[in-house]
Amino acid sequence: MTTISRILTGVVAIAAAVVGVAASPTLDGVRHDDATTRVGTTGLDPGLRAAIRRATDAAAADGVTVRITSGWRSPAHQRRLLAAAVEEYGSEEEAARWVATPETSPHVQGEAVDIGPYDAMDWMSRHGSAFGLCQIYANEPWHYEVRPRAVEDGCPAAYDDPTQDPRMR
Ligand SMILES: [Zn+2]
Repeated sequence: MTTISRILTGVVAIAAAVVGVAASPTLDGVRHDDATTRVGTTGLDPGLRAAIRRATDAAAADGVTVRITSGWRSPAHQRRLLAAAVEEYGSEEEAARWVATPETSPHVQGEAVDIGPYDAMDWMSRHGSAFGLCQIYANEPWHYEVRPRAVEDGCPAAYDDPTQDPRMR
């Protein structure tokens, strides 16, 4: 197994374990007229939601379907994700490389989306900056946030993982 597929398998397993229905294709799409009511886009920062919808449309024009696999999360949901990650990775230190706390997670603040599948991540890594969407962590190719200046300046260098992010401290 490649590193990326191992990572993805782990994350999907955690999400599925916590949500139970995370893999359902009916829950994670943003290609709907009432995207704001869909799981994954509810509670997102309006700027992020607008950017992801523009990028999703552009990706669709390129034949790539972008799905939101995780968007806004309640503090309680983030707490369950973290607990599942501690169980999965065996320690709080290792879990912190993958899952933030309810206090620090940009997902809880509505400022991050996780996308998939792989070809969507690939597309976004090449075109996301044009929409102000940037990968923030080198170890999380699915996690995107808005960095408005990226439209002109390109995305800032990614942190190795969330433990390098000053916001996580
Ligand atoms: Zn994320």
